[in-house]
Amino acid sequence: MALDFSLTSEQEEIRALVREFAVKEMRPRADHHDEHEETPWEVMRKAHEIGIGPAAMFPTEYGGGGLDRVTELILSEELSFGDAGMAVSILASGLAGAGIIAMGTEEQKQRYIFRLCDPKDLRIAAMGLTEPDSGSDSLSLRTTATRVDGGYLLNGTKQFCTNGGIADLQVVFATTDRSAGPAGITGFVIEKDNPGMRQGRKERKLGVRASHTAQVILEDCFVPDEARLGFDRDGKATGPGAIGAMLMLEATRPAIAAGAIGIARAAFEFARDYSLEREQFGKPIAKHEAIAFKLADMATEIDAARLLAWRAGWMAEQGIPMARGEGSMAKLFAGDVAMRVTVDAVQVLGGYGYIKEYPVERFMRDAKIYQIWEGTAEIQRLVISRYVLGERRAAGRARLAQAS
Ligand SMILES: Cc1cc2nc3c(=O)[nH]c(=O)nc-3n(C[C@H](O)[C@H](O)[C@H](O)COP(=O)(O)OP(=O)(O)OC[C@H]3O[C@@H](n4cnc5c(N)ncnc54)[C@H](O)[C@@H]3O)c2cc1C
Repeated sequence: MALDFSLTSEQEEIRALVREFAVKEMRPRADHHDEHEETPWEVMRKAHEIGIGPAAMFPTEYGGGGLDRVTELILSEELSFGDAGMAVSILASGLAGAGIIAMGTEEQKQRYIFRLCDPKDLRIAAMGLTEPDSGSDSLSLRTTATRVDGGYLLNGTKQFCTNGGIADLQVVFATTDRSAGPAGITGFVIEKDNPGMRQGRKERKLGVRASHTAQVILEDCFVPDEARLGFDRDGKATGPGAIGAMLMLEATRPAIAAGAIGIARAAFEFARDYSLEREQFGKPIAKHEAIAFKLADMATEIDAARLLAWRAGWMAEQGIPMARGEGSMAKLFAGDVAMRVTVDAVQVLGGYGYIKEYPVERFMRDAKIYQIWEGTAEIQRLVISRYVLGERRAAGRARLAQAS
């Protein structure tokens, strides 16, 4: 009996703890932060203090909680069920942290990850890959890192950076040699008080408005050698490099999928409860088959998305390569499900779904970003199609042949 969908008692406990936090701490503040586009510092601090922020997911050897990859999906879904924008604010440092863990030297991991895990002090991180002219085609980035005595001078603009400009640690990708193409790209860590880095425009958004999104502008920003990720003090490469780290994104996609599932579930539960109360033509609208079947489809799609996400999380935990793009499948499907389910939830509420008195219009606005960030739905389809057509493996073999 190898297949087992039951949760451990620890997973059940974490789910109950985060769900309680979502209902008591996040939901009552969700409208305010959505309306005012304010960063929810108080909620972020509380989540950090009780150990349900990104630190919970970092390895124990760097001060983190060492949650396994399936439990982190449960945490992500529950936070997003509370409020998607706040969940992003709470969890966004995880992406930068994952980059440091994937690319950094042992010394860098000790230096930076420990700081993000200090339970007494909330410190946040940001990850800047996207630029005004390079989004999906991220490897065409233009930010330069020019060699100078003792380090590098970084110049460029990072676009749409979550926590950009307010983060204590900013991971940015830049090229040390444009003629080398993707091989010239390296990750750097920039500290908040660096005079060469400043926040540009703070974006006003459709959804996840509790989360801070801004440009980050680098002007002759000096970064010392020891902050170049994956290179030791002698300038020798020690890790998989930036490209290797980006390939590892496949393994971080299930957590994004879990966020989308949290929104979808919030919308479904609200619509279901409403449909049992609201009466038209002498009976609850849930008793009209058109509404009941919509709810059935919503529940089915949410479960299917969760199964894909948990499979990918389980594979990441076991160290099984995602040879068919299983992480992308989870992210793609969950993003599309979140959009369909939240649109349907608005429909179930009719006119009341469209007004701000009820949260479903916010759920619908929040869901859209899951078809865009961390690789758009089209890019996920591209990735999956390459895996299923065998092109990724062939490309990998060609690279190996070239290297040998
Ligand atoms: C709120 C928010 C937060 C974000 N946070 C971060 C962050 O913290 N760090 C970070 O680095 N980035 C972040 N991003 C950037 C995000 O990852 C990009 O917006 C996303 O990757 C898409 O890039 P783009 O917006 O430039 O769109 P484009 O790449 O210009 O794409 C436009 C359209 O063309 C399609 N398209 C592009 N290429 C192809 C192709 N080859 N085949 C088919 N279709 C294609 C896309 O799917 C899309 O529909 C954030 C974005 C937002 C909106």
